[in-house]
Amino acid sequence: MSAVTEATVESATPVLEGVDLVKEFAGRTSLFGRASSKVRAVDGVTLRLHAGRTLGLVGESGSGKSTVGRLLLRLLDVTGGEVHLGADDVTRARGRDLNQARRAMQMVFQDPYSSLNPTMRIGDIIGEPVTFHRGLKGAELDAEVDRLLISVGLSPEHARRFPDEMSGGQRQRVAIARALAPDPKILVCDEAVSALDISIQSQILNLLLKLQREFGVAILFVSHDLSVVRHVSHEIAVMYLGQIVEFGPADRVADSPAHPYTAALLSAVPEAKPSHRRARQKVVLRGDPPSPSRRPAGCPFASRCPAAFEPCHETRPEHTPVNGGGTAACHLQTQGPKLGGRSLPIELLRARPDEAPSAAD
Ligand code: SF4
Repeated sequence: MSAVTEATVESATPVLEGVDLVKEFAGRTSLFGRASSKVRAVDGVTLRLHAGRTLGLVGESGSGKSTVGRLLLRLLDVTGGEVHLGADDVTRARGRDLNQARRAMQMVFQDPYSSLNPTMRIGDIIGEPVTFHRGLKGAELDAEVDRLLISVGLSPEHARRFPDEMSGGQRQRVAIARALAPDPKILVCDEAVSALDISIQSQILNLLLKLQREFGVAILFVSHDLSVVRHVSHEIAVMYLGQIVEFGPADRVADSPAHPYTAALLSAVPEAKPSHRRARQKVVLRGDPPSPSRRPAGCPFASRCPAAFEPCHETRPEHTPVNGGGTAACHLQTQGPKLGGRSLPIELLRARPDEAPSAAD
C-alpha cells in the first residue's frame, strides 16, 4: 500500500476525531477499603479518521489502544478531551443524539464466537440493526440482508443458519455484515483477526480492504500485531502506556521506525524468509511497562528502552517531525546522536552486554 504524506491527510476533514482524549479508571480498593490512585489508561491521545482510509492503532496488551477505540465510539465516557463526529461534538451526547452517532460508528470485535447471539439466525442478526437504524421491513429488509451477505462473500442461503453452523471466518464475515448494516461512516476493528487462523486472517483483511473501497468507510484497525496493521493501514499510530509515541504513513513507520518502541514491536514480528530473518535484528526490551497509576516523570518508555540516555529519565519527549512523514516522541530525534528526523540506526537499539534477559525474546 502506498504511503501518503501527513499533509495530504491533514488537508481533508476527518469523519471522526478524538482530541486530547483522557480516560481514568478507579484504582483497586484494598482490604481496608482504601482506594489506590486512579489508573490513567489513556493520556492525551489525539486521532483523526478520514473517509476511505485506515488508521492502524498498534501497541502491546494494556497500552490503552482498545480503550481509545471505545472512547471514540462513545462506548465509554471520556475523563477529558472531546469526540467530534464530522462537525458535531458528540462527547456528551445522550439519548437520541447518541443513537444517531452510534449508527455512524460500528465495531467489529475480536471473537466471532462470542460476539454473535447463538440463538438467532444469521438473517436476524444482520437484519435487526437494518430495521432499528434504517426502518426497513418485509421484502426490503430481506433484500438488504441478502445484499449484505453477498458483499461479505457469503450467500443468501446463509441467512437461515445459526452461528454454530458456521466456521470462524464465516462468523467474522457475519460480524462485519452486521457492522455494515446501519450504513456506518466508521468501522472500529478491535483485534478483528487475532482469533482466526493465519490463512483466514488474510481473507478477512482483504475483505475489509474491498469493503472500504466499495463503501468508503473510515477504519480504525486496532491490533497488537504490527505486520497485520501494516497490511491494511494508510497511517499507523503506535501506543505505549496510554500515549501515542509515533505516528506516520504506514510504510514509513513499518520500514523506518523512529521510536525505539516501534522498532521493538517490529522486531518481534516473525519473518518468514531466512534471508530477511538474518537482516532483521532483534530489539531487546527489558522488564515490564511501568504502572499507569505511577507514571515516570520522563519518557514513559525509559525503563525498558535500550537506547535511553540522561534526559530520558527527567524530561518527557515532545513529538517532533520525522523524515518521510509523521512524528515521534523521542529525545533521540532532537538530542544525543542528533538523528534530526532520521530513522533509528540499529546500533542504538542493541542490548548492552550487562543487561538483564529480554522480556521480548
Ligand atoms: Fe528511549 Fe529516550 Fe527515546 Fe524514550 S526518549 S524512547 S527512553 S531514547
